[in-house]
Amino acid sequence: MAVKAAKVTKKKAGKMEMAEPIVEEPIMETTEKAVVETKTKKKVPAVSLKDLALTDVPGLGPKTNQMLVDGGIKNPEKLMATSLQDLEIMGLTRPLAKKLRTTLKELYPDNFGEFDEEQSLEDIEGIGPTTAKSLREKGMNVHLLQTTPVKELESRYGLTADTASKYQTLISTMKGGYFTTAYDVMEQQKNSESFTFGADSLDKLFSIPELGTSGIKAADTYEFFGAFRSGKSQICHQLCVTIQLPKELGGLGKKAIYIDSEGTFSPSRISQMAHRIKEEKGWDKSVDDILGDILVARAKNTDMQQQIALKLLDILGNTEKDIYGILIVDSVSSHFRAEYAGRGTLADRQQTLNHHLSILNRIADTYGLSIVITNQVQSNPAQFFGDPTVAVGGNIMGHWATTRCYLRKSKGEKRVIRIFDSPMIGELEAVFEITENGVLTSE
Ligand code: ADP
Ligand code: MG
Repeated sequence: MAVKAAKVTKKKAGKMEMAEPIVEEPIMETTEKAVVETKTKKKVPAVSLKDLALTDVPGLGPKTNQMLVDGGIKNPEKLMATSLQDLEIMGLTRPLAKKLRTTLKELYPDNFGEFDEEQSLEDIEGIGPTTAKSLREKGMNVHLLQTTPVKELESRYGLTADTASKYQTLISTMKGGYFTTAYDVMEQQKNSESFTFGADSLDKLFSIPELGTSGIKAADTYEFFGAFRSGKSQICHQLCVTIQLPKELGGLGKKAIYIDSEGTFSPSRISQMAHRIKEEKGWDKSVDDILGDILVARAKNTDMQQQIALKLLDILGNTEKDIYGILIVDSVSSHFRAEYAGRGTLADRQQTLNHHLSILNRIADTYGLSIVITNQVQSNPAQFFGDPTVAVGGNIMGHWATTRCYLRKSKGEKRVIRIFDSPMIGELEAVFEITENGVLTSE
């Protein structure tokens, strides 16, 4: 068998000298393994990507080829760029997809050397294809399995506590353990992405020069609190537009998700803002497409709000990676405040709110979304001087967001925003204006 496979390689090497595109002879599916093993030892010199055809992938038989072509995968480059999940939908099993991609990576290091294979549930010892499939149907993936509390893995995903802990330990080992060095963390942070508010004064206020970010930082958490009409929802609306800007225009080219708990989400407001930003930036995405890329859910009470957040974990677990860039919860606290109004309900309220906030954190952490929540203020009778208002939600809320900011009304259309608590940004203020065209910079 080995001799036979070696022959194939030799013949192919001959063809290469003639600088022809490598044409793979149809290989029977049953001989795949031997051929792949031999081939992977031999590195093929750099090939122009356009010359590579799917049939150049050793181990890919004519049947699989046709299946992929039907699914829109016409060349190895596309095969590498498509998620395992999408390939699976086309009918290519995950193990075979991984095998083909490993082969491509080894065979064409100049083209695919950087390729990082997705980790999938089957990579965890003890998880077979059936378990993996049923977990995936519930939106589970490797990262989420690692970050979900064991208790919840029991109640929502039907795992026993022992199995769940075992998987979590295995994943941590797979990912190189719990610790890393401060240097690596710094290097990682240096690659942080960010996107614009669509108002210079705000971008400047939120910029972190050490990280090279300006505006909202990807995968970070923000709380905007302030009185009624201070501009919280207006900022949220505008971020749903600016995140969609392509990178070269200051966005991330991603979609937005809006959980509206107060019934104040307004598509026509989005449309006004979109028109202004399109004109200002010379951006050609249509307003309809911008509206189409904002996913909205209306939460009518705390139960619905919690359900929506949990549902998002499922949806994002089953959506192609990196499609969504921001989740807005406007406001996070109003239902909690209204439903847990009586005396003696505070502890309950804080507990459910805490759980809700932890789900939001998990969404940010697992799927790399920025999360923006808004919060109301209540008067603080203990404060006699200055602004007698504090954010709702007490300590639990107070510690949630990486960056908290306080919004207040000023003269006319002007609003003042102050960074209240942030590890990277000083306690500075900026002024912005709300006009028909949206949230604008102001001196
Ligand atoms: P909240 O902090 O309560 O969420 P908003 O963000 O909804 O407040 O801000 C409401 C304010 O935004 C209004 O008082 C008004 O000044 C301004 N605003 C909203 N829509 C428009 C518009 N189409 N044209 C001009 N100003 C607007
Ligand atoms: Mg509002």
